[in-house]
Amino acid sequence: MPSSGGSGVYRLSEMTWPEVEAAIEETQTMLLAVGNTEQHGHHLPLGVDVFMPDGIAERVAERTGCLLAPPVWYGVSPHHTFKPGTFTVESETFQHYVRDVCASAGDWGVENVLLLNGHYLAQDPELEIVVRELKNDHGMEAFHVPLVSVFRDAAERVRTSAVAFHAAEFETACMLELEPDTVHMDRAEAVDPSVDLPPLLGYDAYADNRVGTAFTPEEMAALTDAGNVGDPTAATSEAGRELVDDAVENVSMLVEALDGS
Ligand SMILES: [Zn+2]
Repeated sequence: MPSSGGSGVYRLSEMTWPEVEAAIEETQTMLLAVGNTEQHGHHLPLGVDVFMPDGIAERVAERTGCLLAPPVWYGVSPHHTFKPGTFTVESETFQHYVRDVCASAGDWGVENVLLLNGHYLAQDPELEIVVRELKNDHGMEAFHVPLVSVFRDAAERVRTSAVAFHAAEFETACMLELEPDTVHMDRAEAVDPSVDLPPLLGYDAYADNRVGTAFTPEEMAALTDAGNVGDPTAATSEAGRELVDDAVENVSMLVEALDGS
Protein backbone atom coordinates (compact mmCIF):
# COMPACT_ATOMS: atom_id res chain seq x y z
CA MET A 1 0.00 0.00 0.00
CA PRO A 2 1.61 3.28 -1.06
CA SER A 3 1.84 6.07 1.50
CA SER A 4 1.05 9.72 1.03
CA GLY A 5 4.68 10.77 0.54
CA GLY A 6 5.66 14.40 0.65
CA SER A 7 3.41 15.88 -2.01
CA GLY A 8 0.47 16.77 0.18
CA VAL A 9 -1.67 15.68 3.06
CA TYR A 10 -4.76 13.79 1.97
CA ARG A 11 -4.56 10.20 3.24
CA LEU A 12 -6.85 10.33 6.28
CA SER A 13 -5.28 7.36 8.06
CA GLU A 14 -2.00 9.30 8.29
CA MET A 15 -3.45 12.66 9.32
CA THR A 16 -4.14 14.23 12.71
CA TRP A 17 -7.54 15.68 13.51
CA PRO A 18 -6.30 19.29 13.37
CA GLU A 19 -4.94 18.52 9.89
CA VAL A 20 -8.35 17.20 8.89
CA GLU A 21 -10.02 20.28 10.35
CA ALA A 22 -7.80 22.48 8.19
CA ALA A 23 -8.12 20.28 5.08
CA ILE A 24 -11.91 20.25 5.16
CA GLU A 25 -11.81 24.03 4.64
CA GLU A 26 -10.09 23.40 1.30
CA THR A 27 -11.95 20.33 0.02
CA GLN A 28 -15.22 18.65 0.90
CA THR A 29 -14.66 15.69 -1.40
CA MET A 30 -13.58 12.24 -0.21
CA LEU A 31 -12.53 9.17 -2.20
CA LEU A 32 -13.22 5.72 -0.76
CA ALA A 33 -11.80 2.62 -2.42
CA VAL A 34 -14.23 -0.27 -2.09
CA GLY A 35 -13.10 -3.76 -3.00
CA ASN A 36 -12.82 -7.23 -1.60
CA THR A 37 -10.13 -9.66 -0.47
CA GLU A 38 -10.44 -12.70 -2.72
CA GLN A 39 -8.65 -15.19 -4.93
CA HIS A 40 -7.17 -13.80 -8.16
CA GLY A 41 -5.65 -16.88 -9.76
CA HIS A 42 -2.12 -18.19 -9.38
CA HIS A 43 -0.39 -14.94 -10.28
CA LEU A 44 -2.14 -12.07 -8.45
CA PRO A 45 -2.50 -11.33 -4.72
CA LEU A 46 -5.80 -11.42 -2.84
CA GLY A 47 -5.88 -7.64 -2.47
CA VAL A 48 -6.17 -6.69 -6.16
CA ASP A 49 -9.68 -5.27 -5.87
CA VAL A 50 -8.48 -2.79 -3.24
CA PHE A 51 -4.94 -2.13 -4.53
CA MET A 52 -6.35 -0.96 -7.88
CA PRO A 53 -8.95 1.59 -6.72
CA ASP A 54 -6.80 2.77 -3.81
CA GLY A 55 -3.77 3.28 -6.07
CA ILE A 56 -5.86 5.17 -8.59
CA ALA A 57 -7.52 7.20 -5.81
CA GLU A 58 -4.12 8.13 -4.43
CA ARG A 59 -3.08 9.60 -7.77
CA VAL A 60 -6.37 11.50 -7.98
CA ALA A 61 -5.86 12.86 -4.46
CA GLU A 62 -2.28 13.90 -5.31
CA ARG A 63 -3.55 15.77 -8.33
CA THR A 64 -6.68 17.36 -6.90
CA GLY A 65 -6.00 17.67 -3.16
CA CYS A 66 -9.18 15.81 -2.16
CA LEU A 67 -9.28 13.46 0.83
CA LEU A 68 -8.61 9.72 0.66
CA ALA A 69 -10.35 7.46 3.17
CA PRO A 70 -8.98 4.12 4.41
CA PRO A 71 -10.35 1.49 2.00
CA VAL A 72 -13.05 -1.12 2.52
CA TRP A 73 -11.26 -4.48 2.23
CA TYR A 74 -14.26 -6.82 2.56
CA GLY A 75 -17.17 -7.09 0.16
CA VAL A 76 -19.67 -9.41 -1.45
CA SER A 77 -18.05 -12.37 -3.16
CA PRO A 78 -19.79 -15.71 -2.60
CA HIS A 79 -18.80 -16.88 -6.11
CA HIS A 80 -15.06 -16.82 -5.31
CA THR A 81 -15.26 -18.89 -2.13
CA PHE A 82 -14.20 -22.01 -4.06
CA LYS A 83 -10.58 -20.94 -3.39
CA PRO A 84 -8.94 -20.20 -0.01
CA GLY A 85 -8.15 -16.64 0.95
CA THR A 86 -11.53 -15.35 -0.22
CA PHE A 87 -13.74 -13.38 2.18
CA THR A 88 -17.39 -12.55 1.69
CA VAL A 89 -19.99 -10.71 3.74
CA GLU A 90 -23.75 -10.55 3.35
CA SER A 91 -25.11 -8.04 0.92
CA GLU A 92 -26.95 -6.02 3.60
CA THR A 93 -23.93 -6.04 5.93
CA PHE A 94 -21.74 -4.58 3.19
CA GLN A 95 -24.31 -2.05 2.09
CA HIS A 96 -24.95 -0.76 5.62
CA TYR A 97 -21.25 -0.67 6.49
CA VAL A 98 -20.24 1.39 3.45
CA ARG A 99 -23.20 3.74 3.96
CA ASP A 100 -22.38 4.29 7.65
CA VAL A 101 -18.70 4.92 6.94
CA CYS A 102 -19.60 7.62 4.42
CA ALA A 103 -22.37 9.15 6.52
CA SER A 104 -20.03 9.51 9.49
CA ALA A 105 -17.61 11.49 7.32
CA GLY A 106 -20.55 13.71 6.48
CA ASP A 107 -20.78 14.60 10.17
CA TRP A 108 -17.40 16.36 10.09
CA GLY A 109 -17.77 18.15 6.79
CA VAL A 110 -17.42 15.81 3.83
CA GLU A 111 -20.10 16.71 1.29
CA ASN A 112 -19.13 14.63 -1.74
CA VAL A 113 -18.20 10.94 -1.70
CA LEU A 114 -16.88 8.88 -4.59
CA LEU A 115 -17.01 5.11 -4.10
CA LEU A 116 -14.28 3.67 -6.32
CA ASN A 117 -15.34 0.08 -6.83
CA GLY A 118 -12.56 -2.37 -7.70
CA HIS A 119 -14.67 -5.51 -7.34
CA TYR A 120 -15.86 -5.36 -10.91
CA LEU A 121 -19.56 -5.94 -11.43
CA ALA A 122 -20.11 -8.06 -8.34
CA GLN A 123 -21.15 -5.43 -5.79
CA ASP A 124 -22.61 -2.78 -8.06
CA PRO A 125 -26.22 -3.18 -6.86
CA GLU A 126 -25.31 -2.62 -3.21
CA LEU A 127 -23.30 0.49 -4.00
CA GLU A 128 -26.10 1.93 -6.13
CA ILE A 129 -28.36 1.68 -3.07
CA VAL A 130 -25.68 3.25 -0.84
CA VAL A 131 -25.48 6.21 -3.21
CA ARG A 132 -29.24 6.64 -3.14
CA GLU A 133 -29.39 6.48 0.67
CA LEU A 134 -26.51 8.94 1.11
CA LYS A 135 -28.27 11.41 -1.14
CA ASN A 136 -31.81 10.99 0.14
CA ASP A 137 -31.23 10.37 3.84
CA HIS A 138 -27.93 12.14 4.54
CA GLY A 139 -27.93 15.08 2.12
CA MET A 140 -24.58 14.09 0.58
CA GLU A 141 -23.51 14.03 -3.05
CA ALA A 142 -22.50 10.43 -3.66
CA PHE A 143 -21.26 8.58 -6.72
CA HIS A 144 -20.64 4.95 -7.54
CA VAL A 145 -17.52 4.78 -9.72
CA PRO A 146 -16.83 1.27 -11.09
CA LEU A 147 -13.25 1.07 -12.37
CA VAL A 148 -14.37 -0.85 -15.45
CA SER A 149 -16.36 2.23 -16.46
CA VAL A 150 -13.72 4.89 -15.86
CA PHE A 151 -11.02 3.13 -17.90
CA ARG A 152 -13.35 1.84 -20.60
CA ASP A 153 -11.91 4.07 -23.39
CA ALA A 154 -8.35 2.96 -22.67
CA ALA A 155 -9.47 -0.67 -22.39
CA GLU A 156 -10.94 -0.55 -25.87
CA ARG A 157 -7.62 0.79 -27.19
CA VAL A 158 -5.26 -1.64 -25.43
CA ARG A 159 -7.23 -4.88 -25.27
CA THR A 160 -5.75 -7.89 -27.07
CA SER A 161 -7.51 -10.87 -25.47
CA ALA A 162 -11.02 -12.07 -26.34
CA VAL A 163 -12.20 -12.74 -22.79
CA ALA A 164 -11.44 -10.28 -20.00
CA PHE A 165 -13.23 -11.13 -16.83
CA HIS A 166 -11.51 -12.05 -13.59
CA ALA A 167 -7.77 -11.67 -12.84
CA ALA A 168 -7.23 -11.48 -16.58
CA GLU A 169 -5.72 -8.91 -18.96
CA PHE A 170 -6.99 -5.70 -17.36
CA GLU A 171 -6.54 -6.46 -13.68
CA THR A 172 -3.08 -7.89 -14.34
CA ALA A 173 -2.07 -4.86 -16.41
CA CYS A 174 -3.27 -2.42 -13.74
CA MET A 175 -1.33 -4.32 -11.09
CA LEU A 176 1.83 -4.26 -13.24
CA GLU A 177 1.51 -0.47 -13.19
CA LEU A 178 0.43 0.01 -9.55
CA GLU A 179 1.99 -2.84 -7.51
CA PRO A 180 4.43 -4.68 -9.83
CA ASP A 181 6.25 -6.46 -7.00
CA THR A 182 3.10 -8.44 -6.16
CA VAL A 183 2.53 -9.82 -9.69
CA HIS A 184 3.91 -13.27 -10.62
CA MET A 185 3.81 -13.26 -14.42
CA ASP A 186 5.72 -16.55 -14.53
CA ARG A 187 2.67 -18.24 -12.92
CA ALA A 188 0.03 -16.58 -15.13
CA GLU A 189 -1.99 -18.86 -17.37
CA ALA A 190 -4.79 -18.28 -19.86
CA VAL A 191 -8.19 -19.75 -18.95
CA ASP A 192 -11.05 -19.81 -21.45
CA PRO A 193 -14.56 -20.27 -20.09
CA SER A 194 -15.18 -23.95 -20.60
CA VAL A 195 -18.95 -24.20 -20.17
CA ASP A 196 -21.69 -23.22 -22.56
CA LEU A 197 -23.37 -20.06 -21.40
CA PRO A 198 -27.03 -19.18 -22.00
CA PRO A 199 -27.87 -16.84 -24.91
CA LEU A 200 -27.48 -13.04 -24.44
CA LEU A 201 -24.81 -13.48 -21.78
CA GLY A 202 -21.28 -12.59 -22.84
CA TYR A 203 -18.75 -13.73 -20.26
CA ASP A 204 -16.73 -10.54 -20.36
CA ALA A 205 -16.52 -7.43 -18.22
CA TYR A 206 -16.75 -5.25 -21.34
CA ALA A 207 -19.08 -7.34 -23.46
CA ASP A 208 -22.60 -6.51 -24.42
CA ASN A 209 -24.10 -8.54 -21.57
CA ARG A 210 -27.75 -7.99 -22.26
CA VAL A 211 -29.06 -9.98 -19.33
CA GLY A 212 -27.74 -10.03 -15.79
CA THR A 213 -27.02 -13.11 -13.75
CA ALA A 214 -24.88 -14.36 -10.88
CA PHE A 215 -22.48 -17.27 -10.57
CA THR A 216 -22.36 -19.82 -7.79
CA PRO A 217 -19.02 -21.07 -6.38
CA GLU A 218 -19.70 -24.40 -8.11
CA GLU A 219 -20.17 -22.71 -11.48
CA MET A 220 -16.98 -20.70 -11.01
CA ALA A 221 -15.07 -23.83 -10.01
CA ALA A 222 -16.29 -25.51 -13.21
CA LEU A 223 -15.19 -22.49 -15.26
CA THR A 224 -11.66 -22.21 -13.93
CA ASP A 225 -9.21 -24.38 -12.07
CA ALA A 226 -6.57 -21.66 -11.65
CA GLY A 227 -9.11 -19.07 -10.46
CA ASN A 228 -8.79 -16.51 -13.24
CA VAL A 229 -11.08 -16.27 -16.27
CA GLY A 230 -9.42 -14.83 -19.36
CA ASP A 231 -5.82 -14.38 -20.44
CA PRO A 232 -3.51 -12.58 -17.97
CA THR A 233 -0.45 -13.36 -20.13
CA ALA A 234 -1.70 -10.66 -22.54
CA ALA A 235 -1.15 -7.97 -19.89
CA THR A 236 1.65 -5.41 -20.16
CA SER A 237 2.73 -2.60 -17.86
CA GLU A 238 2.34 -0.15 -20.77
CA ALA A 239 -1.33 -1.10 -21.10
CA GLY A 240 -1.66 -0.85 -17.33
CA ARG A 241 -0.34 2.69 -17.39
CA GLU A 242 -2.88 3.66 -20.07
CA LEU A 243 -5.73 2.15 -18.06
CA VAL A 244 -4.66 3.80 -14.82
CA ASP A 245 -4.04 7.17 -16.51
CA ASP A 246 -7.50 7.06 -18.09
CA ALA A 247 -9.13 6.30 -14.74
CA VAL A 248 -7.14 9.01 -12.94
CA GLU A 249 -8.07 11.53 -15.64
CA ASN A 250 -11.79 10.75 -15.49
CA VAL A 251 -12.09 10.63 -11.71
CA SER A 252 -10.03 13.83 -11.32
CA MET A 253 -12.40 15.59 -13.70
CA LEU A 254 -15.34 14.65 -11.51
CA VAL A 255 -13.56 15.67 -8.28
CA GLU A 256 -12.57 19.04 -9.73
CA ALA A 257 -16.12 19.70 -10.88
CA LEU A 258 -17.45 18.86 -7.41
CA ASP A 259 -14.87 20.91 -5.50
CA GLY A 260 -15.43 23.85 -7.85
CA SER A 261 -19.21 23.81 -7.43
ZN1 LIG B 1 -10.54 -8.50 -9.02
